[in-house]
Amino acid sequence: MTWIYNKKQHTLHIKGYCAMQGNPKNDCNWEELQSENAALEIDGVAVHKCKVCQKRLEKNNK
Ligand SMILES: [Zn+2]
Repeated sequence: MTWIYNKKQHTLHIKGYCAMQGNPKNDCNWEELQSENAALEIDGVAVHKCKVCQKRLEKNNK
């Protein structure tokens, strides 16, 4: 699983899980990460997980 992190808004998305995520290749505010922890290492408690992505993740795990 690949995570997409918005460094400006501190929101963490899962790649391909919602339409609100940007493309790190075109926009330097976005960064592609290999784990959830990688985002926490950047911004700690400021990190907010995208609700749409989280819901879809929960569905996939069921
Ligand atoms: Zn999302």
